[in-house]
Amino acid sequence: MRLLSSFGRLPCSFITLALVVLSGFAEGIGLALFVPLLNLMFQGGEQNLSFPFDRIQLAFDMIGIPMTLPPMLAIIFILIITSLGIAYAQRSMVVRIRQRFSRDTRREYVDALYKADWPFISAKSQGDAVNELLNECGRASLALQYELLAIGSALQIAIYIGVSALVSWQHTLVTLAFGGAIFGIVRPLQLQARELGDKQTNANRNLSFYIVDFLRGAKLIKSTANESRVIGALSNHIDTENNVSRQSDINGLKIYFMVQTLPVVLITGLIGLSHYVFTLNASLTIGFLLILSRIAPRLAQFQQYSQSYNIASPALTVVDRVIEEARQNIEETGSDGIAFKKITKSIAFNEVSFRYPSRGSSTLSGVSIEIPRQKMIAIVGSSGAGKSTIVDMLAGLRVPDDGTITIDEKPLSEYALTSWRERIGYVAQDVVVFNDTLASNVTFSCPGVTEDDIREALKIARLNELIEELPDGLQTMIGENGIRLSGGQRQRLAIARAIIGKPELLLLDEATSALDNESERLVQQALEAIAKEFTLVVIAHRLTTVRRADIIYVMEAGKVVQIGKYDELVEQEGSFRQLHTAGFE
Ligand code: ADP
Repeated sequence: MRLLSSFGRLPCSFITLALVVLSGFAEGIGLALFVPLLNLMFQGGEQNLSFPFDRIQLAFDMIGIPMTLPPMLAIIFILIITSLGIAYAQRSMVVRIRQRFSRDTRREYVDALYKADWPFISAKSQGDAVNELLNECGRASLALQYELLAIGSALQIAIYIGVSALVSWQHTLVTLAFGGAIFGIVRPLQLQARELGDKQTNANRNLSFYIVDFLRGAKLIKSTANESRVIGALSNHIDTENNVSRQSDINGLKIYFMVQTLPVVLITGLIGLSHYVFTLNASLTIGFLLILSRIAPRLAQFQQYSQSYNIASPALTVVDRVIEEARQNIEETGSDGIAFKKITKSIAFNEVSFRYPSRGSSTLSGVSIEIPRQKMIAIVGSSGAGKSTIVDMLAGLRVPDDGTITIDEKPLSEYALTSWRERIGYVAQDVVVFNDTLASNVTFSCPGVTEDDIREALKIARLNELIEELPDGLQTMIGENGIRLSGGQRQRLAIARAIIGKPELLLLDEATSALDNESERLVQQALEAIAKEFTLVVIAHRLTTVRRADIIYVMEAGKVVQIGKYDELVEQEGSFRQLHTAGFE
């Protein structure tokens, strides 16, 4: 992005620039007053001033202050200190608005991401999201800060140049020509900075992406002795990121070096010119050089800020794009739809068909399923048959391409989606254990419940004995930074979490697939305990889980191929018997 192209996005941008102008004028006038001051000192009070300093003399006369050393020194002192004070206020304002922007952008990002629909969220890479939220939002706000500071420095330079033109237009012209030359010399380095900024964005992205991916796969990596391959791959990404960072820093140093050293050539040249060509008096030359000595660091600052802007601004493009994409995929939650209260009769899939956009063929074709209130429905079938897709559709996460899903004969799409989802309990294949206490983990979706409710839910989920084992009972930290739970305990925790809000519909997706026999027996007991009370949909891998289901739907390649009770289905020729004999028991 080019400097100025994103100006105004930080709140109060114009106020901060007004402060820059104010501080620039205060300092500029203060510095210009050095010329009459030097005159006074060199000529022993004999003031014979030309334009514009004769006007200053006039102003002193008008307010009745003698143009002598003490009042002039006091005025210069006050002006320069005031200017520095305003500059400080301006800088701290810039820092504050930058921080505010960073915070607001992160909030916007999180808001847009979670309000997006499930297809968008599920396609998003975790590494990308972490990188965008932590790195890119921060870099984007830094880009805007640098842009504002660069524009501020440019304004200050313009003010100083104006003041210096009043002191000596000849010197100013030489300085401007020289400034143009410096700009021409450092321009290629600036362009390189922009390129490096893009590379940095990519390097950050790749690094975060692989770190998150490899952490998720850490168990597989360790248990198959693939650490050295992973360390090698990560080291490569770390090296790439490090190389780009280093090149960026060195590039910045080169620019800084040139902007610092080239003015030395200018100053020595100007002194020579004053003496031999322009024949300016000493106080004007010294006054001019004083102003120049204030311009040079501003020039260096301007270069540095615009360089930093070039490096950080690709992040702004990334963050804008990602937030925009998420907003374009905002989920229609039908907030003005029917508020769901309870299932009175049944939920039904009526000839539902669905195809994932990235897939050539349909995942579900004309699926009809009935889920009567307070019955246990099981959906079985080999992997890839479409069972999880059905669960996603029940939660309103995916919408049928054809056919309808109804609750008590009204289409799900006519309900306020949030009111429906609030009444769903869901046990996913991958159980999420948050880094929090056992109690908070159980009450995740209904924080208002009592301790007795928590204990009751844990008892139903056959997890009550765990409370006794934990050092701080319900208040023990579990999850990544606390006590790790076994696979079976995690499943039962998920069941406790799902049932504590007494949901109208309980969805269990492959709840027992990864469990050992003992854990499965406990989860089985938990399921039996809840089956009587809830409308239950169980996606099962092991057929033992569905032995007491009221209706079993057998799926094959996106179609329902058999319907019945366990004993009936075992008797029939077909997929279920094949699954049964293939040992899915
Ligand atoms: P099951 O739960 O029976 O194993 P799924 O419902 O998970 O089956 O998947 C059904 C089919 O849809 C599979 O072929 C799977 O590869 C495909 N599928 C699942 N999720 C996606 C997705 N997000 N994008 C594209 N295809 C998908």
